[in-house]
Order: sequence, then C-alpha cells, then structure tokens
Amino acid sequence: MTESQTAVRPERRAELAAGLARVRARIADACAAAGRPRDEVTLVAVTKTYPAADVVALAGLGVTDVGENRDQEAAPKAEAVADAGATPRWHFIGQLQRNKARSVVRYADVVQSVDSVRLAAALDAAAGAVRDRPLDVLVQVSIDGDPDRGGALPGAADPQRGLDPVAAAVAGADGLRLAGLMAVAPLGWEPDRAFARLAEVAAALRADHPGATVLSAGMSGDLESAIGHGATHVRVGSALLGMRPALR
Ligand SMILES: *Cc1c(COP(=O)(O)O)cnc(C)c1O
Repeated sequence: MTESQTAVRPERRAELAAGLARVRARIADACAAAGRPRDEVTLVAVTKTYPAADVVALAGLGVTDVGENRDQEAAPKAEAVADAGATPRWHFIGQLQRNKARSVVRYADVVQSVDSVRLAAALDAAAGAVRDRPLDVLVQVSIDGDPDRGGALPGAADPQRGLDPVAAAVAGADGLRLAGLMAVAPLGWEPDRAFARLAEVAAALRADHPGATVLSAGMSGDLESAIGHGATHVRVGSALLGMRPALR
C-alpha cells in the first residue's frame, strides 16, 4: 500500500476534523445532560464506504475506535490502515456469515453483531486458531423481537437465537469474551422507547454476566437518547464522515 492510498487532502482532513468536533460536542452535551462522566462513552467511527485514508486521518485526529459492516471491504481497509502505521481498534458491526469468521477474527478487536449460537461457535473456532487473546464479543439484541431482522431475541426460548442461549454460548467459549450488548433502534420506534427497553435487557444480562458492561447503542440520529439510557459506545458514521451513497 503506497502512501498516496492512505493520505488525505488537506480539505478532507479539515472536513473530518470539523465533523469530529461536532460529534464530540454532541457526546459531551449528552453526557452532561445525563449526569454521566464524558469518559464513559467511546465514539466508534463507522467508516463503511469511506477509504482507508479517512481512517488514517481520523486516527491522527484522535479517534481510537472504528466500525465496519462488510468483511470484503473491512479486511483490505484494515490492512492498508495498519500499513500506514495507524492502530485503531476495529469493531465489526454488520451481519456476519459464518464462512467469514476466519477472516474477521484476523483484524477485528470486537465483533458487535453476534446473534446466534452457531455464529458464536464459528467465531470461537476461528478465534482460537489465530488469536492469542479472546475476541471481545457483543451480542446483538433485537429490541422489537422481529425474528426476520438481525439480533438475538430477549426472553425467547429459541435455543439458537434466544438472547440467553447466545450469551451463554459466548460466555462459555474459550476464544471469546462476552463484553456486552449492541442494538439498533427499530424503524418506527421512538429512540427513547427503544433504548429504555434495551437498558432493561442489559441490566438483566449483567445480573447473570457481571462482566458484560458494554452497551453499544446510538448512531448519528439518536446518540443523545442512547447516552441518556446508558450507552457506553456510540456508532457514528454519516454525522462524522458525510452522507453515504444509498443502498449500503
Ligand atoms: C452504518 C451503521 C451505523 C452508523 O450509522 P449512521 O447513521 O451513519 O451514524 C451504526 N451502526 C450500524 C450497525 C451500522 O450499520
């Protein structure tokens, strides 16, 4: 990877710096409004559709965590960013096919989108083969319980997709560490209603798994609500990097 592929023009750097300042101010204001210390919330910059050069520039501006949702895009991007000498933590936040597990565990520090016992088993096997430390995992939760969209189902007896069996599978896997939960507010739901429900699910999970303290919730449009309901990680793309082309 040559430097030209990971260098940004000064105008782009200024644009990213301005976006970052706005997002950081929103996070700080939301923490203040919720009476929470600012350092309880980590910004995960969602860089999908944007080039490795933007990731390198964001890392240079102090961004420590980045999120990607497609392995085909993330694997070469992570390699280019590493070649440029930047070392952000990579969060995989998208739907993950089991046959991609072996690729993802090579660069991801956290997989936020585990929603079945089968996927947990595939990641465990893959992580055990190539990593010297367990992979941090968040179980993705379906807030509205719609089985057709992503997410494990709170309170469901389903042995494959129920939240309790998925969390138990992650917690019991040598290659994985159950770090917490991730969710997206369902379409058509008020964010406050969605994240209040998520906070209840997270509290119930922590009763069984006290180490599962991470709560990844909130995006460009609803990060204030998520922080008000206890999010420790917000995943912000468009407010930081600009609008993505549709269909991604
Ligand atoms: C794309 C994406 C985000 C970021 O969304 P924005 O609205 O651009 O901030 C957050 N979480 C997930 C799971 C995503 O796929």
